[in-house]
Amino acid sequence: MRVLVISDIHANDAALQAVLQDAGAVDETWCLGDLVGYGPDPNQVLERVRGLPRLRCIFGNHDAAILQRMELEAFNGDARTSLIWTGKVLTPDNLNFLRSLAPLDEVDGVTLAHGSPRDPTWEYVLNTLTARLNFTHFRTPFCFVGHSHVQSMFELDEDEDRVTTSPNRVSQVIPMTRRAIVNPGSVGQPRDRDPRAAYAIFDSKERTWEARRVDYDIAIVQKRIRDAGLPPRHALRLDEGW
Ligand code: ZN
Repeated sequence: MRVLVISDIHANDAALQAVLQDAGAVDETWCLGDLVGYGPDPNQVLERVRGLPRLRCIFGNHDAAILQRMELEAFNGDARTSLIWTGKVLTPDNLNFLRSLAPLDEVDGVTLAHGSPRDPTWEYVLNTLTARLNFTHFRTPFCFVGHSHVQSMFELDEDEDRVTTSPNRVSQVIPMTRRAIVNPGSVGQPRDRDPRAAYAIFDSKERTWEARRVDYDIAIVQKRIRDAGLPPRHALRLDEGW
C-alpha cells in the first residue's frame, strides 16, 4: 500500500496542493496534525484534507489550542495571534472535524503521533536520546511523528540498544529494516532551511520510506498572510525555511 504521509500543513493551502499533485496516486493519506496555525488558509486546508479519500488524521498542538484543549499562553506571541485569528475564521464544519480527531492512532503496523508517542501533542523528537526514550512508548515497528518540521529518521539497533540517525536523503527510497521513529517534515512551514514543501511516501508492504520535497508558490502565500493581517514574520520565514 502506497501511503502519503503529511504533517504540519499550518493553513498553507498552496503548499498542500503542490504536495498532493506531486505525490500522485496513493492508497491512503496519513496526516500527523497541525493543520492550522501560522498560515492564511485554514478553511481551505481543512476542506481539502477532509475531502481526501482514505484519510487517517490526528490533531497537533495548534489544532488543540483552537479547540481550547491547550492554553494559548503556551504559544509565543506571533503563534498566538495567528491562533486567535484562526479560531475566529474557522467554519463550524471545520471546527467539528478538528474536534473529531484523536491525539494518537495506529494503522497497519504504524503508530501515528504529532509530537512523540510518549507525549503525543507536545514533545519534540529532535535527537537520538529523546528518540531512544520514546521507543518504549509504542509497540508497532514504526512510529510516524511531525511537530519538529524537520525530515528525519531515528532507527533503533536492538542488539546494541542504540539509536542512530543519518542525514536526510531526499527522493531516495530507503528500506526500513529496523524499528524507527520517522518524520515526513512540514508541508506548510519547513524548518530545515529548505523552503520547499516536505512530505513522504511510505510503502507499507515493501516497508520503504521516501522523503520528498516540492516547490510551490511561496510569494502567493506570503501575500495572503500579509493581506489577512497575520504576523509578517510568518511570511518571511517561508522564504528561507525556518
Ligand atoms: Zn507544527
